[in-house]
Amino acid sequence: MSDLETLGAAELKTRLASLKEKFDAFKHQNLSLNMARGKPCPEQLDLSMDMLGLLKTKDDLKDSNGNDIRNYGGLDGIPDAKTFFAEMLEVSPKEILIGGNSSLNIMHDTLSMAMFHGVYGSPAPWSKLPSVKFICPSPGYDRHFAICEQLNIGMVVVDMLDDGPDMDQVEKLAGSDPSIKGIWCVPKYSNPDGITYSDEVVDRLAGMETAAADFRIFWDNAYIVHHLTDRPDLLKNIMKACSAAGHPDRVFMYSSTSKVTFPGAGVAMMASSENNLNFFKKQLSVQTIGPDKFNQLRHVRFLKDRDTLKAHMRKHAAILKPKFDTVLKILESELGDKKEVSWHKPNGGYFISLNTPDGCAKEVVAMAAEAGVTLTPAGATFPYGNDPRDRNIRIAPSFPSLSELTTAIKILCLCIEIVIMKKSLS
Ligand code: PLP
Repeated sequence: MSDLETLGAAELKTRLASLKEKFDAFKHQNLSLNMARGKPCPEQLDLSMDMLGLLKTKDDLKDSNGNDIRNYGGLDGIPDAKTFFAEMLEVSPKEILIGGNSSLNIMHDTLSMAMFHGVYGSPAPWSKLPSVKFICPSPGYDRHFAICEQLNIGMVVVDMLDDGPDMDQVEKLAGSDPSIKGIWCVPKYSNPDGITYSDEVVDRLAGMETAAADFRIFWDNAYIVHHLTDRPDLLKNIMKACSAAGHPDRVFMYSSTSKVTFPGAGVAMMASSENNLNFFKKQLSVQTIGPDKFNQLRHVRFLKDRDTLKAHMRKHAAILKPKFDTVLKILESELGDKKEVSWHKPNGGYFISLNTPDGCAKEVVAMAAEAGVTLTPAGATFPYGNDPRDRNIRIAPSFPSLSELTTAIKILCLCIEIVIMKKSLS
């Protein structure tokens, strides 16, 4: 029995009045606190400032093959970047393409091209089919869902469990419906749950039978090196698992340095089978003569090798971990006794995913906004912005300062308490 169930209506009303008083006091402070998007804070951006001074002279502007990077060429990236990022993604340099500044951009390109031309081995362009659908484990990343919505790709929700998507649901859908052409996955420190897929989930994704022969896994490994602890989650290599299962062309893997160096000015990449990459590059070569090689070279010179990258990410963690800890501590102290409220404790990534009782998230987010706290809109973590249980709230603790974060989470907890109490009185 929760504490609310043991209280009489009169006592509930008195408690509600005192919570509302607290809320009004926050409101009168005219706060402006933003926890809507997973943006690094200024201290994190400062960690990469030295990168900007690394390319000074003509001699600095040659790649490891001796090519002058000031000129056109290198559609799929400079060799230095392929070697470095292939190691980061645990693939071979032949299985990687280095792109521009945004992995979301490459994901959008991949899907747009699939609609126009299909993917390697497609019997027809996807847009020529009566319908195309994607499996969307949810809660998930709103911008993945936006791409599908824009391209008129239907979205089928499957539940996220503690070790990844509900594979019983995924196998059933992918195995029976040929219009299902793919699945979105954020396999490590997922957005927003912070979950890392188990080996079993990876193996089942790699090995499952699919009704569409050209089914693809969109493996968005955005948080591959973004650990918060010294004992990171381990993620099985999906490319190897797919090859071993006889589906070598099943995966498109994506990542970027947006949250390693500078969001919007990082380096993005895609890894996939050589067949897939060659098919993709044919179309890419019409779209562009090549990406920004200066940025690629700068990144490799700055991040250097696996150990330097690790040390750099530890500096990010030193800034981020106290913020995550603060959020988790306040959630525990303010809401720990509410059995209908739950949250995940991630070992990395950028988010904490909070579930309120059903039917409360929209009201909580709106109320927090009244007190000057901006959260990701309720529902955004589901396709079409529709959380069927209206309960998921994504918290992005990275950008605000510790003191701002403390206030913002206290306000959020207060709003949750008020909304729960109001509902129990109605
Ligand atoms: N993928 C996920 C899961 C993200 O959370 C984000 C940003 O928040 C991105 C991709 C965006 O990546 P990029 O900056 O490389 O486009």
